[in-house]
Amino acid sequence: MVPTHTLNPSHSIYQIAHPSDSPLGLYLHVPFCLARCHFCSFYLQVYRTENVQKYVMALEGEIQLYADLLQLQATPIATIYFGGGTPTILTADQLSRIGNLIRSTYHVIPEAEITIEAHPASVTSSYLHQLLEAGFNRISFGIQSTSDSELIQLGGRNQTTQIAMAITQAQAAGFSNINIDVMYGLPGQTLETWTSTLHDILAFSPQHISCYALTIEEGTRFAIDQRRGKFKEHDGDIQVAMEEFACNAFTTAGYQHYELSNFSQPGFQCRHNMQYWQGGSYLGLGPSAQSCLGLTRFGNVADLDRYCEEIESQSLPIRNYELLEREQALRESIVLGLRMIQGVPLDLVNTIHACSDWQILVPQLIENGLLEQASGHLRLTTRGHRFADTVAVTLW
Ligand code: SF4
Repeated sequence: MVPTHTLNPSHSIYQIAHPSDSPLGLYLHVPFCLARCHFCSFYLQVYRTENVQKYVMALEGEIQLYADLLQLQATPIATIYFGGGTPTILTADQLSRIGNLIRSTYHVIPEAEITIEAHPASVTSSYLHQLLEAGFNRISFGIQSTSDSELIQLGGRNQTTQIAMAITQAQAAGFSNINIDVMYGLPGQTLETWTSTLHDILAFSPQHISCYALTIEEGTRFAIDQRRGKFKEHDGDIQVAMEEFACNAFTTAGYQHYELSNFSQPGFQCRHNMQYWQGGSYLGLGPSAQSCLGLTRFGNVADLDRYCEEIESQSLPIRNYELLEREQALRESIVLGLRMIQGVPLDLVNTIHACSDWQILVPQLIENGLLEQASGHLRLTTRGHRFADTVAVTLW
């Protein structure tokens, strides 16, 4: 059964449906940090206690609003992800209260993956124990590098001693599903310092590693520095060497390369992100959070004050609502699915292949050595991994 709910009268343009028996991922955006890192373009505010209190009340309101409007009591919630920003800027009591509200109003399955992004300097041993008690079973540390001079270039939010202490304390507290984010192509980074970062993080044996190239986003300190000639990106060959070096280091250490930028020990793929890459539905709560429910895509207003005001007046703070045609939704989910190393089942690709421009484009991409067919799937070739964005733009 697919219930369709028309939201309150002021939002009657939104027709949001979700198959009640297919699992849903829940994302909660916590838009606060102590300071902005030099590469970060996420929507966030510098931490102020009164704003956090206001935000928590509004978030609880939004959780309740969706529970009523979409009848989410019947929908299995398989993953919950607190991202940001810095979710660990909230007190353990605030996080626990939000978690309890979700559990009492939505149907969270017992084996749900519940992740919190954490800033190493913002956690203590007792806080980590409280997170476990609050139900979090996965923690993700955005450390980026273990070189103090590179960390200063990024904005000085982390120090290597804090990183080591936070990860060790999380393991000692009982977290058995830990992710570490690292980044290559940083200013001042060399193959030697990158090797050293990889060596340091592998020494912690995290269950999961996300490894991204630095991209310079508009509005960031790095973009300003680049325009002023103070910051020069690494040339492509070094970036490729860093990427290949990391891939070899992780796979040699027993990690599975399961998504373009993600590696895990067997059985520890990030189930929440798989929901994005495999065309599943997810509901994003909090300012600027994005949602995909069936054929609908929408995002929340990226403004804390507006978000709080609209929730207070019982309105959904939705912007950029889009209802897709079935074929476009399928195209998008296949293009995203190509981020998975195993690719996308050919059966699925063939449902639009036969009656669209893909009939020409897919064979061309295969001929150019960017896509291949293997084990009943269409997937990027090893060379195609480097040109994944080009493939995505071609097929979008
Ligand atoms: S901690 Fe994360 S969200 Fe906060 S400013 Fe740095 S990169 Fe952005």
